Amino acid sequence: MKTIAKARALFGPTDHFKTIDLPRRELQPNDVLIDIQFAGICHSDIHSVRGEWGQVKYPFVPGHEIAGVVSAVGSAVTQHKVGDRVGVGCLVDSCRTCAQCQNDEEQFCLNGYTGTYGGTDKYGEQTQGGYSTHIVVEEHFVLKIPDGIELDKAAPLLCAGITTYSPLRRWNVGPGTKVAIVGLGGLGHMAVKSAHALGAQVTVLSQSLSKKEDGLAFGASAYYATSDPATFTQLAKTFDLIINTVSAKIDLNAYLSLLAVGGTMVNVGAPSEPLDIHVFSLIMQRRSFAGSLIGGIRETQELLDFCAKHQITPEIEMISADQIDEAYERMMKSDVRYRFVIDVSTI
Ligand code: NAP
Ligand code: ZN
Ligand code: ZN
Repeated sequence: MKTIAKARALFGPTDHFKTIDLPRRELQPNDVLIDIQFAGICHSDIHSVRGEWGQVKYPFVPGHEIAGVVSAVGSAVTQHKVGDRVGVGCLVDSCRTCAQCQNDEEQFCLNGYTGTYGGTDKYGEQTQGGYSTHIVVEEHFVLKIPDGIELDKAAPLLCAGITTYSPLRRWNVGPGTKVAIVGLGGLGHMAVKSAHALGAQVTVLSQSLSKKEDGLAFGASAYYATSDPATFTQLAKTFDLIINTVSAKIDLNAYLSLLAVGGTMVNVGAPSEPLDIHVFSLIMQRRSFAGSLIGGIRETQELLDFCAKHQITPEIEMISADQIDEAYERMMKSDVRYRFVIDVSTI
Protein backbone atom coordinates (compact mmCIF):
# COMPACT_ATOMS: atom_id res chain seq x y z
CA MET A 1 0.00 0.00 0.00
CA LYS A 2 1.29 3.45 -0.87
CA THR A 3 1.69 6.00 1.91
CA ILE A 4 0.12 9.35 1.09
CA ALA A 5 2.41 11.96 2.60
CA LYS A 6 1.74 15.68 2.94
CA ALA A 7 4.44 17.86 1.44
CA ARG A 8 5.24 21.47 0.56
CA ALA A 9 5.90 21.96 -3.13
CA LEU A 10 6.53 24.70 -5.65
CA PHE A 11 4.61 24.69 -8.94
CA GLY A 12 6.98 27.09 -10.69
CA PRO A 13 10.25 28.95 -10.09
CA THR A 14 8.56 32.10 -8.74
CA ASP A 15 5.71 30.34 -6.96
CA HIS A 16 5.07 30.18 -3.20
CA PHE A 17 5.10 26.85 -1.37
CA LYS A 18 1.78 25.01 -1.27
CA THR A 19 0.66 21.84 0.48
CA ILE A 20 0.19 18.75 -1.69
CA ASP A 21 -0.62 15.08 -1.21
CA LEU A 22 2.46 13.10 -2.15
CA PRO A 23 2.17 9.34 -2.68
CA ARG A 24 5.27 7.46 -1.52
CA ARG A 25 5.93 4.09 -3.12
CA GLU A 26 4.76 0.84 -1.59
CA LEU A 27 7.58 -0.65 0.52
CA GLN A 28 9.86 -2.91 -1.50
CA PRO A 29 11.81 -5.64 0.39
CA ASN A 30 14.84 -3.38 1.04
CA ASP A 31 12.90 -0.17 1.71
CA VAL A 32 12.47 1.81 4.91
CA LEU A 33 9.48 4.10 5.56
CA ILE A 34 10.48 7.15 7.60
CA ASP A 35 8.20 9.52 9.51
CA ILE A 36 10.06 12.76 8.87
CA GLN A 37 10.24 15.13 11.83
CA PHE A 38 12.69 17.79 10.64
CA ALA A 39 14.04 18.98 7.30
CA GLY A 40 16.89 21.45 6.90
CA ILE A 41 16.87 24.10 4.16
CA CYS A 42 20.02 23.98 2.02
CA HIS A 43 20.87 26.70 -0.48
CA SER A 44 20.92 23.90 -3.09
CA ASP A 45 17.16 23.59 -2.51
CA ILE A 46 16.82 27.20 -3.70
CA HIS A 47 19.12 26.78 -6.72
CA SER A 48 17.29 23.58 -7.70
CA VAL A 49 13.66 24.46 -7.19
CA ARG A 50 14.07 27.79 -8.98
CA GLY A 51 15.58 26.02 -11.98
CA GLU A 52 18.95 27.79 -11.65
CA TRP A 53 20.85 24.54 -12.29
CA GLY A 54 18.68 23.49 -15.20
CA GLN A 55 15.06 22.83 -15.99
CA VAL A 56 13.02 20.98 -13.39
CA LYS A 57 9.60 19.36 -13.36
CA TYR A 58 6.90 20.83 -11.13
CA PRO A 59 5.43 20.25 -8.61
CA PHE A 60 8.82 20.01 -6.94
CA VAL A 61 9.42 19.13 -3.28
CA PRO A 62 12.96 20.03 -2.15
CA GLY A 63 14.73 18.92 1.03
CA HIS A 64 17.77 16.68 1.44
CA GLU A 65 18.55 17.19 5.10
CA ILE A 66 16.04 14.76 6.55
CA ALA A 67 15.74 13.44 10.10
CA GLY A 68 12.99 11.22 11.46
CA VAL A 69 11.97 7.86 12.86
CA VAL A 70 11.53 4.53 11.06
CA SER A 71 7.84 3.58 10.98
CA ALA A 72 7.95 0.45 8.77
CA VAL A 73 10.54 -1.74 7.07
CA GLY A 74 10.45 -4.06 4.06
CA SER A 75 10.76 -7.83 4.47
CA ALA A 76 14.50 -7.96 3.68
CA VAL A 77 15.68 -4.95 5.70
CA THR A 78 18.45 -5.83 8.17
CA GLN A 79 20.10 -2.53 9.10
CA HIS A 80 17.16 -0.57 10.53
CA LYS A 81 14.07 -1.33 12.61
CA VAL A 82 10.85 0.43 13.53
CA GLY A 83 11.53 3.20 16.05
CA ASP A 84 15.15 3.87 14.98
CA ARG A 85 16.23 7.51 14.68
CA VAL A 86 17.50 7.95 11.16
CA GLY A 87 18.54 10.47 8.53
CA VAL A 88 18.61 10.81 4.77
CA GLY A 89 20.89 13.17 2.85
CA CYS A 90 21.25 13.96 -0.84
CA LEU A 91 21.41 10.38 -2.13
CA VAL A 92 18.61 7.81 -2.21
CA ASP A 93 20.03 5.27 -4.67
CA SER A 94 22.97 4.32 -6.89
CA CYS A 95 24.03 1.23 -8.82
CA ARG A 96 26.01 -0.19 -5.84
CA THR A 97 28.21 -2.20 -8.23
CA CYS A 98 30.48 0.26 -10.09
CA ALA A 99 34.01 1.05 -8.87
CA GLN A 100 32.90 4.28 -7.17
CA CYS A 101 29.98 2.66 -5.35
CA GLN A 102 32.25 -0.22 -4.29
CA ASN A 103 34.64 2.43 -2.98
CA ASP A 104 31.84 3.91 -0.82
CA GLU A 105 31.61 7.08 -2.92
CA GLU A 106 28.08 6.67 -4.23
CA GLN A 107 27.97 10.40 -5.03
CA PHE A 108 30.31 9.62 -7.94
CA CYS A 109 28.43 6.49 -9.10
CA LEU A 110 29.57 5.86 -12.67
CA ASN A 111 26.00 5.02 -13.64
CA GLY A 112 24.61 8.13 -11.99
CA TYR A 113 23.26 8.34 -8.44
CA THR A 114 19.62 9.10 -7.71
CA GLY A 115 19.21 12.42 -5.89
CA THR A 116 16.75 12.74 -3.03
CA TYR A 117 14.76 15.22 -5.11
CA GLY A 118 14.61 16.14 -8.76
CA GLY A 119 15.96 12.74 -9.86
CA THR A 120 14.28 9.74 -11.43
CA ASP A 121 14.19 6.57 -9.36
CA LYS A 122 14.56 3.04 -10.71
CA TYR A 123 10.77 2.75 -10.89
CA GLY A 124 10.65 5.72 -13.28
CA GLU A 125 9.15 8.16 -10.77
CA GLN A 126 10.48 11.66 -10.05
CA THR A 127 12.07 11.75 -6.58
CA GLN A 128 10.61 14.27 -4.13
CA GLY A 129 12.43 15.54 -1.08
CA GLY A 130 12.10 16.05 2.61
CA TYR A 131 9.72 19.00 3.02
CA SER A 132 7.32 16.18 3.58
CA THR A 133 5.83 14.01 6.33
CA HIS A 134 7.11 10.66 5.00
CA ILE A 135 9.71 9.23 2.65
CA VAL A 136 10.56 5.73 1.43
CA VAL A 137 14.27 5.04 0.95
CA GLU A 138 16.36 1.95 0.18
CA GLU A 139 17.99 0.93 3.47
CA HIS A 140 21.63 1.42 2.37
CA PHE A 141 20.95 5.14 1.96
CA VAL A 142 19.46 5.56 5.44
CA LEU A 143 21.88 6.84 8.11
CA LYS A 144 21.78 6.17 11.84
CA ILE A 145 21.51 9.25 14.07
CA PRO A 146 23.70 8.72 17.15
CA ASP A 147 21.97 9.01 20.56
CA GLY A 148 23.85 12.17 21.53
CA ILE A 149 22.39 14.27 18.68
CA GLU A 150 18.84 15.66 18.74
CA LEU A 151 16.90 15.00 15.54
CA ASP A 152 16.39 18.68 14.72
CA LYS A 153 20.12 19.32 14.93
CA ALA A 154 20.94 16.11 13.08
CA ALA A 155 19.11 17.19 9.92
CA PRO A 156 21.66 19.78 8.66
CA LEU A 157 24.51 17.32 9.16
CA LEU A 158 23.13 15.24 6.28
CA CYS A 159 24.20 17.85 3.72
CA ALA A 160 25.89 20.93 5.24
CA GLY A 161 27.81 18.71 7.65
CA ILE A 162 29.08 16.07 5.24
CA THR A 163 29.74 18.50 2.37
CA THR A 164 32.27 20.39 4.47
CA TYR A 165 33.65 17.42 6.45
CA SER A 166 34.52 15.45 3.31
CA PRO A 167 37.03 17.97 1.85
CA LEU A 168 38.52 18.64 5.29
CA ARG A 169 39.31 14.91 5.51
CA ARG A 170 40.42 14.50 1.90
CA TRP A 171 42.88 17.41 2.19
CA ASN A 172 44.18 16.00 5.51
CA VAL A 173 43.23 18.88 7.74
CA GLY A 174 44.59 18.47 11.26
CA PRO A 175 46.72 20.16 13.89
CA GLY A 176 48.90 22.81 12.27
CA THR A 177 46.79 23.17 9.11
CA LYS A 178 45.80 26.76 8.30
CA VAL A 179 42.26 26.68 6.93
CA ALA A 180 40.08 29.55 5.73
CA ILE A 181 36.33 29.20 5.33
CA VAL A 182 34.67 31.62 2.91
CA GLY A 183 31.04 32.42 3.77
CA LEU A 184 29.52 31.82 7.22
CA GLY A 185 26.15 30.34 6.28
CA GLY A 186 24.83 26.79 6.68
CA LEU A 187 27.84 25.04 5.16
CA GLY A 188 30.37 27.60 6.37
CA HIS A 189 29.50 27.40 10.04
CA MET A 190 29.67 23.59 9.96
CA ALA A 191 33.05 23.83 8.20
CA VAL A 192 34.37 26.04 10.99
CA LYS A 193 33.16 23.67 13.71
CA SER A 194 34.52 20.53 12.02
CA ALA A 195 37.87 22.06 11.05
CA HIS A 196 38.32 23.28 14.62
CA ALA A 197 37.47 19.83 16.02
CA LEU A 198 40.07 18.32 13.67
CA GLY A 199 42.66 20.60 15.28
CA ALA A 200 43.16 23.12 12.47
CA GLN A 201 43.77 26.84 12.84
CA VAL A 202 40.60 28.32 11.34
CA THR A 203 39.96 31.75 9.79
CA VAL A 204 36.56 32.97 8.62
CA LEU A 205 36.32 35.18 5.54
CA SER A 206 32.88 36.77 5.59
CA GLN A 207 31.40 39.75 3.76
CA SER A 208 31.37 41.80 6.97
CA LEU A 209 32.34 41.50 10.62
CA SER A 210 28.69 41.29 11.75
CA LYS A 211 28.95 37.59 12.70
CA LYS A 212 32.49 37.76 14.13
CA GLU A 213 31.54 36.82 17.70
CA ASP A 214 29.70 33.75 16.44
CA GLY A 215 32.54 32.68 14.17
CA LEU A 216 35.02 32.84 17.03
CA ALA A 217 32.61 30.91 19.28
CA PHE A 218 32.33 28.18 16.61
CA GLY A 219 36.11 27.67 16.82
CA ALA A 220 37.72 30.17 14.45
CA SER A 221 40.79 31.97 15.76
CA ALA A 222 40.55 34.84 13.26
CA TYR A 223 37.78 36.58 11.31
CA TYR A 224 38.11 39.01 8.43
CA ALA A 225 35.73 41.05 6.29
CA THR A 226 36.15 40.46 2.57
CA SER A 227 34.57 43.86 1.89
CA ASP A 228 37.80 45.37 3.28
CA PRO A 229 40.54 45.32 0.59
CA ALA A 230 43.20 45.25 3.36
CA THR A 231 42.12 41.67 4.17
CA PHE A 232 43.59 40.50 0.88
CA THR A 233 46.98 42.15 1.38
CA GLN A 234 47.23 41.18 5.03
CA LEU A 235 46.46 37.50 4.42
CA ALA A 236 48.37 36.99 1.14
CA LYS A 237 49.98 33.51 0.84
CA THR A 238 48.66 32.35 4.22
CA PHE A 239 46.41 29.30 3.93
CA ASP A 240 47.01 25.61 3.23
CA LEU A 241 43.35 25.12 2.40
CA ILE A 242 40.48 27.44 1.58
CA ILE A 243 36.93 26.09 1.43
CA ASN A 244 34.60 28.34 -0.54
CA THR A 245 30.98 27.84 0.55
CA VAL A 246 29.56 30.95 -1.15
CA SER A 247 26.35 30.46 -3.12
CA ALA A 248 27.12 33.35 -5.50
CA LYS A 249 29.89 34.35 -7.89
CA ILE A 250 33.01 35.70 -6.17
CA ASP A 251 36.39 36.88 -7.44
CA LEU A 252 38.29 33.59 -7.19
CA ASN A 253 41.63 35.13 -8.10
CA ALA A 254 41.53 37.37 -5.06
CA TYR A 255 40.94 34.35 -2.82
CA LEU A 256 43.53 32.17 -4.59
CA SER A 257 46.13 34.83 -3.72
CA LEU A 258 45.57 33.95 -0.06
CA LEU A 259 46.85 30.37 -0.57
CA ALA A 260 50.36 29.49 0.55
CA VAL A 261 52.71 27.74 -1.90
CA GLY A 262 51.10 24.42 -2.84
CA GLY A 263 47.81 25.35 -1.19
CA THR A 264 44.39 24.26 -2.41
CA MET A 265 41.08 26.05 -2.73
CA VAL A 266 38.10 23.70 -2.70
CA ASN A 267 34.83 25.03 -4.09
CA VAL A 268 31.70 23.56 -2.59
CA GLY A 269 29.55 26.62 -3.28
CA ALA A 270 27.61 25.99 -6.48
CA PRO A 271 26.45 29.17 -8.23
CA SER A 272 25.07 28.52 -11.69
CA GLU A 273 27.26 31.06 -13.48
CA PRO A 274 30.89 30.28 -14.44
CA LEU A 275 33.71 31.64 -12.23
CA ASP A 276 36.84 33.10 -13.83
CA ILE A 277 40.33 31.91 -12.97
CA HIS A 278 43.56 33.46 -14.24
CA VAL A 279 45.94 30.52 -14.59
CA PHE A 280 48.71 32.66 -13.11
CA SER A 281 46.76 32.58 -9.84
CA LEU A 282 47.58 28.86 -9.80
CA ILE A 283 50.90 28.65 -11.63
CA MET A 284 52.93 31.10 -9.60
CA GLN A 285 52.67 29.31 -6.25
CA ARG A 286 51.81 25.81 -7.56
CA ARG A 287 48.31 26.19 -6.20
CA SER A 288 45.32 23.93 -6.88
CA PHE A 289 41.66 24.63 -7.40
CA ALA A 290 39.27 21.75 -6.70
CA GLY A 291 35.64 20.87 -6.22
CA SER A 292 33.93 18.48 -3.85
CA LEU A 293 30.45 16.93 -3.86
CA ILE A 294 28.69 15.98 -0.58
CA GLY A 295 30.10 12.63 0.63
CA GLY A 296 29.36 8.92 0.35
CA ILE A 297 27.17 6.98 2.76
CA ARG A 298 30.07 5.48 4.74
CA GLU A 299 31.68 8.90 5.21
CA THR A 300 28.33 10.49 6.13
CA GLN A 301 27.91 7.93 8.93
CA GLU A 302 31.51 8.68 9.99
CA LEU A 303 30.63 12.41 10.12
CA LEU A 304 27.52 11.75 12.26
CA ASP A 305 29.60 9.68 14.69
CA PHE A 306 32.36 12.34 14.67
CA CYS A 307 29.79 15.04 15.54
CA ALA A 308 28.39 12.94 18.40
CA LYS A 309 31.89 12.28 19.75
CA HIS A 310 32.98 15.93 19.58
CA GLN A 311 29.54 17.31 20.51
CA ILE A 312 29.33 19.31 17.28
CA THR A 313 25.87 20.36 16.18
CA PRO A 314 24.62 23.08 13.85
CA GLU A 315 23.04 26.33 15.04
CA ILE A 316 19.47 26.12 13.86
CA GLU A 317 16.47 28.40 13.55
CA MET A 318 13.31 26.30 13.68
CA ILE A 319 10.52 27.43 11.36
CA SER A 320 7.04 26.24 10.51
CA ALA A 321 6.14 25.10 7.00
CA ASP A 322 4.41 28.44 6.42
CA GLN A 323 7.74 30.25 6.78
CA ILE A 324 9.68 28.45 4.01
CA ASP A 325 9.21 31.27 1.46
CA GLU A 326 10.41 33.81 3.99
CA ALA A 327 13.40 31.64 4.90
CA TYR A 328 14.40 31.49 1.22
CA GLU A 329 14.23 35.28 0.97
CA ARG A 330 16.34 35.64 4.09
CA MET A 331 18.94 33.20 2.78
CA MET A 332 19.18 35.21 -0.44
CA LYS A 333 20.16 38.17 1.77
CA SER A 334 22.74 36.11 3.75
CA ASP A 335 20.41 36.49 6.74
CA VAL A 336 20.67 32.99 8.20
CA ARG A 337 22.01 31.97 11.60
CA TYR A 338 22.89 29.40 10.62
CA ARG A 339 20.45 26.83 9.23
CA PHE A 340 16.68 26.96 8.88
CA VAL A 341 15.07 23.70 9.92
CA ILE A 342 11.40 23.00 9.16
CA ASP A 343 9.29 21.46 11.90
CA VAL A 344 7.59 18.94 9.63
CA SER A 345 4.64 18.48 12.01
CA THR A 346 3.48 21.93 10.82
CA ILE A 347 3.02 20.81 7.20
P1 NAP B 1 23.80 29.75 2.80
O1 NAP B 1 23.44 29.20 4.14
O2 NAP B 1 22.85 30.64 2.11
O3 NAP B 1 25.23 30.45 2.98
C1 NAP B 1 25.94 31.03 1.92
C2 NAP B 1 26.84 32.14 2.48
O4 NAP B 1 27.63 32.65 1.43
C3 NAP B 1 26.11 33.32 3.05
O5 NAP B 1 25.68 33.14 4.37
C4 NAP B 1 27.15 34.42 2.93
O6 NAP B 1 28.07 34.33 4.01
C5 NAP B 1 27.89 34.03 1.65
N1 NAP B 1 27.40 34.79 0.49
C6 NAP B 1 26.16 34.76 -0.07
N2 NAP B 1 26.10 35.58 -1.14
C7 NAP B 1 27.31 36.14 -1.27
C8 NAP B 1 27.89 37.06 -2.19
N3 NAP B 1 27.17 37.58 -3.19
N4 NAP B 1 29.19 37.40 -2.02
C9 NAP B 1 29.91 36.89 -1.02
N5 NAP B 1 29.42 36.02 -0.11
C10 NAP B 1 28.15 35.65 -0.23
O7 NAP B 1 24.08 28.55 1.76
P2 NAP B 1 24.55 27.03 2.04
O8 NAP B 1 23.35 26.19 2.25
O9 NAP B 1 25.63 27.05 3.03
O10 NAP B 1 25.11 26.64 0.60
C11 NAP B 1 26.21 27.33 0.05
C12 NAP B 1 26.49 26.88 -1.37
O11 NAP B 1 26.96 25.52 -1.35
C13 NAP B 1 25.28 26.88 -2.29
O12 NAP B 1 25.68 27.30 -3.58
C14 NAP B 1 24.88 25.41 -2.34
O13 NAP B 1 24.19 25.04 -3.50
C15 NAP B 1 26.23 24.75 -2.30
N6 NAP B 1 26.23 23.36 -1.86
C16 NAP B 1 27.10 22.53 -2.49
C17 NAP B 1 27.21 21.21 -2.08
C18 NAP B 1 28.23 20.31 -2.70
O14 NAP B 1 28.12 19.09 -2.57
N7 NAP B 1 29.24 20.85 -3.34
C19 NAP B 1 26.39 20.73 -1.05
C20 NAP B 1 25.52 21.62 -0.43
C21 NAP B 1 25.44 22.95 -0.84
P3 NAP B 1 28.64 35.67 4.76
O15 NAP B 1 27.42 36.42 5.19
O16 NAP B 1 29.42 35.11 5.89
O17 NAP B 1 29.46 36.42 3.78
ZN1 ZN C 1 22.45 20.53 0.38
ZN1 ZN D 1 27.62 3.01 -8.98
